[in-house]
Amino acid sequence: MSTIGWVGLGNMGRPMTANLVKAGHTVNGFDLVPEAVAAAAEHGVTAVGSIAEAVAGADIVFTMLPKGEHARTAYLEPNGVLANADTKTLLVDSSTIDFDSARALHSEAAKAGFRFVDGPVSGGVTGAEAGTLTFMLGGTDEDVAEAKSFIEAMAGNMFHAGGEAAGQAAKIVNNMMLSISLQGVVEGAVLAERFGLDPKVFYDIATVSSGDSWPLRTWYPVPGVTETAASNNAFKPGFAAALMHKDVELAVAGAETQGLDLPAAQLVHAQLQKLVDEGLEGLDTSALIRNIDPKAAGLPE
Ligand code: NAD
Repeated sequence: MSTIGWVGLGNMGRPMTANLVKAGHTVNGFDLVPEAVAAAAEHGVTAVGSIAEAVAGADIVFTMLPKGEHARTAYLEPNGVLANADTKTLLVDSSTIDFDSARALHSEAAKAGFRFVDGPVSGGVTGAEAGTLTFMLGGTDEDVAEAKSFIEAMAGNMFHAGGEAAGQAAKIVNNMMLSISLQGVVEGAVLAERFGLDPKVFYDIATVSSGDSWPLRTWYPVPGVTETAASNNAFKPGFAAALMHKDVELAVAGAETQGLDLPAAQLVHAQLQKLVDEGLEGLDTSALIRNIDPKAAGLPE
């Protein structure tokens, strides 16, 4: 079995490392927050006190950090990954970060003689715990194949999305499309109700009609309609509005760098911003319904 260096032991990193330990790997884990390291040590991660210690002797290093700025720091600073790892070590960033940072990390890693793969995930904390995350991987065929042999223990699906930053691109575009469909669903749910339709009857019609979509089927924002919806559970996440806000922001910023105007993405970003401004970013993303009807059923007071 192998030695794995891991940087970032938060909500996702903690359960992901637990699955690597279960698969028999030695995982040397570091986080800036000592409590996060201690919690990971409880499920068998070897606690270390710096990035340099985490990457020492590792066959592969994973990073699971909040945003592009954190990933740049962790890789590029003098006490970071590139300055301290052996160039034989394969590097995988599984954080969801902006497209430009992902490309910069690929190019800085290559300049320093490293192989680098971007590998963001979807599936949330429950997917991380169950070892069923979807990984979207960007890099060369050989590097992605090697990364997959380690990722297997954490994944339900692994896709080689393409070359450098293709994993981030796939993740960002997917979540942008999801948020736009969801905005349609929350508007539709309120209008259907105002027209006097029974929510369950409307749901049954729409799920077999042309208005069907994944958020309609999975996240219908009215309690008692579909089992998997956060609306049944006072809009507890699920997928927090804060995370979707970040992902749509990455899409809007990425579009700007490509000279693109994406009006629907901008609109849904503004709707998510309203939730953030009201301190409601901890609710599920389907709480977007609150902007249409502040008294929608199931919302917390
Ligand atoms: P988190 O904030 O819980 O954990 C991130 C950890 O990184 C924190 O413990 C923080 O202390 C640590 N960190 C930051 N900078 C560091 C540095 N320089 N060195 C060492 N540690 C550092 O975030 P999370 O929920 O685990 O998410 C991680 C990434 O996964 C994010 O990019 C997020 O968008 C993505 N993601 C999250 C989910 C989810 O449901 N939580 C789902 C899919 C993808």
